[in-house]
Amino acid sequence: MRGSALRMNSHLHVVSMKEKHKIFLNYAEALRAIRFDLEQYGPQPVLLRQLAQLLFSDDMMFAQDKQGSGLWIKLSQRKKMCLVPYGQLPEYLCTFLEDRQPPLEQLAKICGCVFQEPSYPGIQFPGKVQGIFVETGLEDFKCRQCGQCCRFLEYRRELTHEDYLLWQGLQRSDILERVRVIREKGQIVAYRIWIDPVTHRNTDCCPWLSRDSEHNRYICRIYDVRPEICHQYPGSRKHARMTGCRAFGS
Ligand code: SF4
Ligand code: SF4
Repeated sequence: MRGSALRMNSHLHVVSMKEKHKIFLNYAEALRAIRFDLEQYGPQPVLLRQLAQLLFSDDMMFAQDKQGSGLWIKLSQRKKMCLVPYGQLPEYLCTFLEDRQPPLEQLAKICGCVFQEPSYPGIQFPGKVQGIFVETGLEDFKCRQCGQCCRFLEYRRELTHEDYLLWQGLQRSDILERVRVIREKGQIVAYRIWIDPVTHRNTDCCPWLSRDSEHNRYICRIYDVRPEICHQYPGSRKHARMTGCRAFGS
């Protein structure tokens, strides 16, 4: 998945455009980003145990299953322990979190645990919106132009209306003819990329990706006007790690 939990909402604020390494999330955005993170990568057992530790107070016991298939959870003295498999824990913990609505300080700790970067409560100006600042760890980002993200990550459903309008404004018919516009009752509801203009089928790979054999790297031929989903990748150091990006030397 090329989309990042931290940048999933188009109105999220990168605190500084120069340093794209801190993001502000209001309370609802933070909850959505946590859910998206836990769902997008598949089970993350260590993280889920840490999260349970942060979410459950002492009288809400939990224990790891001996077979390692999930967590035993007891939410009150009167209730029996029940085994929640790791595959169901993201939904279980997110629903618990959304129901409890913890104070900002605790939500910041949970963000720090989930996004694996320093996170702290604060106020975003203008508007004095309370929320969480999450560092992205992108200050050391150095793209190796390996093309991994363009070739293997899923982003074909992520084109935004703004991307489409930009290409329309620039009269980039060469790009627009590779976009499928999906309409319902005459209204545009979604876009799909990349479409072969002759066969009208999905292309195997992005048509704008070129191999530069001489320098052993890949180049985007529409770099300055590439889709926002490409521009925003990776959203954080964790996102890079979880999706195979080599920009941090790993
Ligand atoms: S548009 Fe550019 S950045 Fe996006 S997938 Fe294609 S080659 Fe990669
Ligand atoms: S996977 Fe990372 S290093 Fe490779 S091209 Fe994409 S952003 Fe650059």
